[in-house]
Amino acid sequence: MGFDIIGDVHGCLLELRALLSRLGYKIHDYRLQPPPGRQLVLVGDLVDRGPEIVGVLKLLMQAVADGTALCVQGNHDVRLMHVLGGAVPPPSTSLAASLRQLDTAPASFREQVHGFFQRLPSRLELDQGRLLVVHAGEFTTDDPELQAQFNIHGALTGRRDASGVRERVDWVRSYDGQAWVVYGHTTVLKAVWQGRTLNLDTGCVYGGHLTALRYPEQEVVSVPAARAYASSSRWAALIRSRELLESAPRLLPRPS
Ligand code: MN
Repeated sequence: MGFDIIGDVHGCLLELRALLSRLGYKIHDYRLQPPPGRQLVLVGDLVDRGPEIVGVLKLLMQAVADGTALCVQGNHDVRLMHVLGGAVPPPSTSLAASLRQLDTAPASFREQVHGFFQRLPSRLELDQGRLLVVHAGEFTTDDPELQAQFNIHGALTGRRDASGVRERVDWVRSYDGQAWVVYGHTTVLKAVWQGRTLNLDTGCVYGGHLTALRYPEQEVVSVPAARAYASSSRWAALIRSRELLESAPRLLPRPS
């Protein structure tokens, strides 16, 4: 079995359909038909920030029910799950936008969404343990609750970086496991392997790309976002650093 693993979707249905089509999947009335011998895998964060939360959920909930897709819980999914289960919504514009979109769907659909997220695992070990899919990152510990917490949310260092963005614990540098780890959560401009880890969150909802890894081929496939649907200080800092890098040669004195 081959896997097509897709990064944070965040309600970007248009781009999800485009990427699935590039990967050879067909969709008939929200029913996903994978190419022979392939299974779709999502790194979580299906909801919040983007324009078509209901459509993304309809498609992927059906695919998971049919066994054509697998998915792990992302931090945004878990937060929405708690609110749909009756928790008081924390102040968040991205959560509020998801709730507004879900308000247009029947109450029974909101119950299905709640159950769907509850049943998702926090980690997926595939290809006989050679491939690990998590949302935020991997942390080796004997405490399964602590591990699930890290897999879904990652952790903050308590510091801020030079752009004022809250710094996240860099688990990639200390990861020394044998499994390939494919994840999302922290936006990057491009999906590049770092050791045995690959971050697929290329900021689609911010106007970046939606990215997939074809496994075991280890081929990265991306489609550009139709537009930016949301903004974030982390993404803005990435764009600024790229612009600085691109303008750097012009700042150097010309050779005489
Ligand atoms: Mn995300």
